[in-house]
Amino acid sequence: MPARITNWAGNIVFAAEQLHRPDSVEALQAVVAGSERLRVLGTGHSFNRIADTPGDLVSVADLPIRLELDDAARTVTVSAGTRYAEVTAFVQDAGFALHNLGSLPHISVAGACATGTHGSGTGNGVLGTAVRALELVRPDGELMTIGADDPRLAGAVVSLGALGVVTALTLALEPSFDVAQVVVDDVLHQALLADLPEVMGSAYSVSAFTDWADPLRWQVWRKHRIKKGGPVPASDLLGGRLADGARHPVPGVDPVHCTQQLGVAGPWNERLPHFRREFTPSSGEELQSEFMVPLLHARAAVEAVAEVRELIAPLLMICELRAIAADDLWLSMAQGRESLALHFTWVRDEAAVAPVVAAIEARLAPFAARPHWGKVFTAERDALRLLYPHWDDFVALLADTDPTGKVRGDFVGAFFPH
Ligand SMILES: Cc1cc2nc3c(=O)[nH]c(=O)nc-3n(C[C@H](O)[C@H](O)[C@H](O)COP(=O)(O)OP(=O)(O)OC[C@H]3O[C@@H](n4cnc5c(N)ncnc54)[C@H](O)[C@@H]3O)c2cc1C
Repeated sequence: MPARITNWAGNIVFAAEQLHRPDSVEALQAVVAGSERLRVLGTGHSFNRIADTPGDLVSVADLPIRLELDDAARTVTVSAGTRYAEVTAFVQDAGFALHNLGSLPHISVAGACATGTHGSGTGNGVLGTAVRALELVRPDGELMTIGADDPRLAGAVVSLGALGVVTALTLALEPSFDVAQVVVDDVLHQALLADLPEVMGSAYSVSAFTDWADPLRWQVWRKHRIKKGGPVPASDLLGGRLADGARHPVPGVDPVHCTQQLGVAGPWNERLPHFRREFTPSSGEELQSEFMVPLLHARAAVEAVAEVRELIAPLLMICELRAIAADDLWLSMAQGRESLALHFTWVRDEAAVAPVVAAIEARLAPFAARPHWGKVFTAERDALRLLYPHWDDFVALLADTDPTGKVRGDFVGAFFPH
């Protein structure tokens, strides 16, 4: 019997027995047109059943690689299965940059954009805000382009894979820039909370980590955008001290796979992710959850989570706070509101983690928390639809693009029944 297909974390065994890997767009169109039920799988870095189907599972990883720079338009068009590591190396070589990156560069561009994947920075939108056009194979097998002036683009970027199979994305670029990363250890809880939005805005990209154990301390990672050869801004230590060596987000783990810290400047693509592209983790013994609340409720939201820290700490590898700029993408977790993201990396014990995730969701519900579409959460349709002003617009887009629900899957279908 062939080995079953799993996600990266190994907690999801996909119901599909076979993964189609077409090597041309025409072959992909034939697979889609000939299928009764289909989902597309990216690099499998989601932690829930969002990519699952008992029908046909299809990958775009073997489509011909596209990395097409348009200097004048300042865009790059990439094939959907391309991983950020490949795109960023290509655009950096050409003197350009993407505005931001997630923590791991090994995730596919299409899969990341489809779930609203983000990095950090009060001025930085989710990665999908860079999308200027999408090419996709619709559920009927027809190829379709949604361009920058098409009002459907705002609904099609964070698509949850429910509009069809994206084959290419055109991303906005800016001139390449340098980043210097500085870590501050042992930041005091009250010092961090005194003005959390200010701390989150204190560098181009800021992450604050804690394990919620006693004594409660935070580690603040600031990624400063600097002029080539220019100075690195002095760090507000918030009661802590500058790290005297490289750090891994998870206490006690060797930082060898982390991007360069200690204020050493380097290209954006080698500093914005937490992890180096040379290091390719093939699987992970972890689960992740993440919730976005309006940044103006940052302090109250963190205090609400602190109320259940005794439940959290025993199952937690690390908690990370990040900031996200407001955007206009219909299903983005930062749609319409500057956001604080509260992230939790858990030990891989789904049964133990589920009630703790539910407890966190209950604490964050008063702040209209939106869960990350690609991570572990328990919220259901009735709760989530109230949190997204464009929910019904997405319903209409789905009805138009996929009237029979052929590519929706059970997970997305539970939120968007047809
Ligand atoms: C170690 C690790 C670090 C992470 N870091 C971050 C982070 O910093 N920030 C963050 O926000 N998230 C982060 N995530 C979550 C991750 O970015 C999302 O789960 C993302 O969706 C994974 O992309 P993927 O290509 O693996 O997609 P998959 O998990 O394979 O699929 C996710 C969704 O995308 C759809 N999809 C994939 N490809 C296509 C396509 N070609 N066309 C249409 N739909 C498609 C699928 O159908 C599915 O609905 C992390 C995950 C891991 C494992």
